[in-house]
Amino acid sequence: MQSDKPKTTLVSLSVVGDGILAKYYHKLPSLGIAYLASSLERAGYQVSLFDKSVSLNQKEYVVNEILSRKPDIVGFYIITESFHFTLDIIRTLKAKHKGLKIWVGGPHVYCLPEETIAHEEIDCACVFEGEEMIVKLLDSNFDSREMAKIDGLIYKENNKIIQNKPALIKDLDSLAKPARHLFGPLKDYRPSIVSYKKLPATGILTSRGCASRCTFCHSGKGELTMRYHSPEYVIDEISQLVTDYGIKELFFFDDTFTTNRPRVIEICETIIRNNIKISWSSMIRVTGINKELLQLMKRAGCWLVQIGVESGSQEVLNLMKKDIKLEQVKNVTRMAYDVGLEVKGYFIIGNAGDTVETLDKTIDLIKELPFHYASINHLTPLPGTELWETGHLYGDFEKKNYDKVNYLSDSVNYIPKGLTEEIINKKFKEAYLGFYLNPKTIFRFLKTIKSFDDIKRMLGAISLLSAMLYVKITGIIKNGTPTKS
Ligand code: SF4
Repeated sequence: MQSDKPKTTLVSLSVVGDGILAKYYHKLPSLGIAYLASSLERAGYQVSLFDKSVSLNQKEYVVNEILSRKPDIVGFYIITESFHFTLDIIRTLKAKHKGLKIWVGGPHVYCLPEETIAHEEIDCACVFEGEEMIVKLLDSNFDSREMAKIDGLIYKENNKIIQNKPALIKDLDSLAKPARHLFGPLKDYRPSIVSYKKLPATGILTSRGCASRCTFCHSGKGELTMRYHSPEYVIDEISQLVTDYGIKELFFFDDTFTTNRPRVIEICETIIRNNIKISWSSMIRVTGINKELLQLMKRAGCWLVQIGVESGSQEVLNLMKKDIKLEQVKNVTRMAYDVGLEVKGYFIIGNAGDTVETLDKTIDLIKELPFHYASINHLTPLPGTELWETGHLYGDFEKKNYDKVNYLSDSVNYIPKGLTEEIINKKFKEAYLGFYLNPKTIFRFLKTIKSFDDIKRMLGAISLLSAMLYVKITGIIKNGTPTKS
């Protein structure tokens, strides 16, 4: 390691609210900054990570922690929910350390690059994927002639914003494995209580991009084309996690793990053949799934599949360009349940195009299908998505208030035409209570208990559900910024 090279600290902050749900907040190691760190380490740069859940009153702690690492460059991974908080931190850092360079990336920057770089305290930003870009940026020593050649970089020169062409990693296997050794102890991270069977747990990302074009989702923009790590790379990483870190549970962070069926089959067959003991869960897409694949996934350690259903109305699904059929949702949910997997469905109450009738269809679907868990949320238009541009055609929402961007908050952020906030809240509670207080749901959940650990998990889940029900019924929640799950 050369000491004359600049030192970088990469920061990923999740802002936890102080409401009743705060103690159930979950966080897993932030792989985005770990991939950047491994690229920097491979190029001989010193790098440290600051990856934490913090509350809004911990600004001073965050600033001091970052400065204590004596960085020359600080890189922030920014999600829209924590943008204002992060900007505040950046301003304080710059005030305390004049020569500090600030670099930003992440979903917020991807969606609003020019608006983000326009803040004078931010020196440069990355759109798309930064693993190659960050090394070139440090190699350039922030010389503008060199910076002009770096794909994926946005910077300012003479008060003018320069945006180079975007950068995508073509061959994912060319990347070094994420620098997990730079994270704090695994016990400092906390997966959601209902999302794991075993501990310690962590996440893994085996593909990037999404083939779908959902209007409400960043991945739906289609610019991040679908790319995959090879099964060999994935198995190598899983084996490393099991052997070197003692990991017993994995979350596949892929937007949809099952889109490339032959690859999933090869990964599962190798896990079985190599007798890798790992429990895992993933998001699946209801297209291209059959019973044999679900059975194989289960044999390879999968216990939970998560499905983005969003609505019980085909018309609403079509409008959001979900590109799935309700029949497929029904078939795959039942198939997964029948092969012995637990199933979680994600739903949105108050989609563009929703009416009282379509909301009732969604509520009926949640009750009709054998889900073990239902994540029911309000629609939140995100900057940079198609919905952000077209949502006003089908309803009302406030465009500038990023503080309202909070996936799981109880505030209604979007009101479809013909509906009111009261109707949405009423239907939201109906959906939530109709599912979780349904004896069939309770029975299904009880059937999953097979060990003492499951009992502990169930007690935690009951406590979480009680808190959530309290919030749903009373509407009492303070500022909180849960992540997309
Ligand atoms: S919601 Fe899911 S399927 Fe749709 S674009 Fe986003 S990640 Fe892809």
